[in-house]
Amino acid sequence: MRVLVTGGTGYIGSTAVEILSKKGFEISILDDCSTGHADSVPTGVRFIQGSLLNKSDIATALHDVDAVMHFAGKSLVGESVEKPDLYHLVNVNGTRNLLDEMKNATVTKIVFSSSAATYGEPDVIPIPESASTNPTNPYGATKLAIDTMISRESQEQGISAASLRYFNVAGALKSDRGWLAERHNPETHLIPNVLRSTHANPVKIFGNDWPTADGTCIRDYVHVIDLIDAHIKALDSLTVGVHEIYNLGSGDGYSVRQVVAAAALAIGYEIPTIDSPRRAGDPAILIADINKAKVHLGWTPTRGINEMVADTLASFA
Ligand code: UDP
Repeated sequence: MRVLVTGGTGYIGSTAVEILSKKGFEISILDDCSTGHADSVPTGVRFIQGSLLNKSDIATALHDVDAVMHFAGKSLVGESVEKPDLYHLVNVNGTRNLLDEMKNATVTKIVFSSSAATYGEPDVIPIPESASTNPTNPYGATKLAIDTMISRESQEQGISAASLRYFNVAGALKSDRGWLAERHNPETHLIPNVLRSTHANPVKIFGNDWPTADGTCIRDYVHVIDLIDAHIKALDSLTVGVHEIYNLGSGDGYSVRQVVAAAALAIGYEIPTIDSPRRAGDPAILIADINKAKVHLGWTPTRGINEMVADTLASFA
């Protein structure tokens, strides 16, 4: 089976490429390398350096493909607030082009990287897939628009689809080509920032007055290897004309200070931090209800926060 991995040179996409290849899938990658890294592409993988905004690049990438894992897209909440039109163009229009070209190429299976940002401020914790969707930023709005588009596509065109709503993805995977890890510039994510904290440049803790036990935000972290495992299970379980939505997290929450403590344990010394104002758009608590993925996909995440921190730290070496 040949899988097209869009965004296959990014953090999560390159991890998918590695795991799918090891499992014997044939891989094609479509990535413009705007945020990814071409050096992550393994030998033997078909690599089209091209854009979702260019239909002929997509058509080339879809050659001989049986299914698509669609990771490509803009993914920073803060940037999306500054550049909402760019997020709409790349994420929504790019996916529209992909679905159109899939139809032309009679490719009918897609697993899409959606996000917990589709829910916005939650009414209920843990958050089930049936929760209301009120995204609080343009990034979440684009992911919701795509989920809606895929639902329609599956009803009208009969495609088989799954949207996987990620909570906080962390950790890294060691490959023959070195660690596949977060290489964002600038890095905005908590775990890499905590591990790079120094006395001269301490990690900022965004808010210490949230309505949580220690006053810092609580998030649900899932290891990138567990996350890709869920993608493969979702691909295996696709049903013709059905679009399923699954939350992917661990089902547990960790506060920012608990993550700092886990990182201190891994690194072996106290991590310097500085209390800072709240970050715009942050909800206090996000925890996934992952029962649907457990029951329907037979998926259980097995790697905890300590392993996510340790793998991220090892990837820096
Ligand atoms: N955070 C923080 N300092 C940082 C980066 C993040 O205090 O340098 C907090 C952030 O406010 C949130 C949590 O850590 O509560 C996770 O943030 P991250 O950017 O990693 O993921 P997000 O939840 O935004 O997807």
